[in-house]
Amino acid sequence: MQTLQDIASCVSGYDPNALPVAKAQAFIAQLVQPVEAIEKVAIRASLGRVLARDVVSSIDVPAHDNSAMDGYAVRGGDLATDQPTRLQLAGTGLAGQQYSGPVPQRSCVRIMTGAVMPAGLDTVVPQEFVTVDAAQIVVPAGVVRAGDNRRLAGEALARGEVALHAGRIIRPADLGLLASLGHGEVSVRRRLRVAFFSTGDELRSIGEPLDQGCVYDSNRYTLYGMLQRLGVELLDLGVVRDEPAALEAAFRQAAECADAVITSGGVSVGEADYTKKIMAELGEVLFWKIAMRPGRPMAIGRISHQGSSAILFGLPGNPVAVMVTFYAFVRDALLAMSGAAVEPLPMLQAASVAAIRKKPGRTEYQRGIVGRAADGRWQVAITGSQGSGILRSMSVANGLVVLHHEQGNVAAGESVDVILFDGLV
Ligand code: AMP
Ligand code: MG
Repeated sequence: MQTLQDIASCVSGYDPNALPVAKAQAFIAQLVQPVEAIEKVAIRASLGRVLARDVVSSIDVPAHDNSAMDGYAVRGGDLATDQPTRLQLAGTGLAGQQYSGPVPQRSCVRIMTGAVMPAGLDTVVPQEFVTVDAAQIVVPAGVVRAGDNRRLAGEALARGEVALHAGRIIRPADLGLLASLGHGEVSVRRRLRVAFFSTGDELRSIGEPLDQGCVYDSNRYTLYGMLQRLGVELLDLGVVRDEPAALEAAFRQAAECADAVITSGGVSVGEADYTKKIMAELGEVLFWKIAMRPGRPMAIGRISHQGSSAILFGLPGNPVAVMVTFYAFVRDALLAMSGAAVEPLPMLQAASVAAIRKKPGRTEYQRGIVGRAADGRWQVAITGSQGSGILRSMSVANGLVVLHHEQGNVAAGESVDVILFDGLV
């Protein structure tokens, strides 16, 4: 297994004291491995899970040529282009009740949407174009061309084609697609297990009195929410005091039962030495100062205990920094560990309603409110004070304005990148 130092030496321009966001992301991408265990689940239970293997279609979908409209199945070649065509009605085909009788020359079959095309017929004339005259129909010239309004066998998915690729996070459409192939079960990766705890002597849990100088622990709740949306199995280890024995016990417990451990607090300069000492016995850890705002201090590591190991994400304590570092680093890492094909978060371009001050050389994630301007284009306004302790700024916002590493001041009206919270796991 590569040590953390090995990985660091592979990341060009690695500097733990001024680490660009992209370098930290590259490091983490090398560190994490997907879980190997695979389980079979009923298709409904696979929603949100990570597909373990390609799903190959064993049938053509649809299985037969069929009608896309209610109307009359005809031979395309029978339709005249310069005058109305008169055809004899031979019978009726319904969805699930195919017409399999003979279709003599210059005849047609009444057909409903989804019904199998009778042998030899290749075109459907929608009923609204047709005049019915006893057992005959009249089709005006030029209303359809040969082959129109017919769905071909296998046009949605041909037998042997990959319907869904391994690594896909299964969505509602995929459940339907699996059902359309007749699959009752599907192979998915086992759920990732993620343990998390908050550190800090000043933290109080809900229900406890808020002593002088204390704050309620909110990070475990935002983490719970973000992790829940990712579909991982959660293990909430509570608040852990800034005491070596308590921290060590929490790390050991986490490493024993989880694939990843997320902590908040205790990684800033004043506290890192302390965490460092404990981690030195349990595994490897690196302390980073990331060129970003908020979220500068962060620890990354691997904890081992009794043959099991877990990846450690030591997030900063400030509540906004926890969320921002989670979205910037932890989300992709946990998805990769879950076996998912990781796509970068989509970003919207919106015009900043006001100028924004920004120093090149770090990535800033400012909280923004995105809406439509009078001209219909997207615009974004920053939500007042951007202190990393002001969690309300995240709650008021509907997106994060990403001011990239090299970017400088933003002028009013200039376009900026925004990650929308809607749709974000
Ligand atoms: P630290 O990174 O431990 O120095 O914490 C930085 C700031 O975040 C301090 O003001 C802490 O009180 C605050 N903080 C740390 N952990 C939490 C938490 N779980 N909930 C709310 N605030 C926290
Ligand atoms: Mg602390």
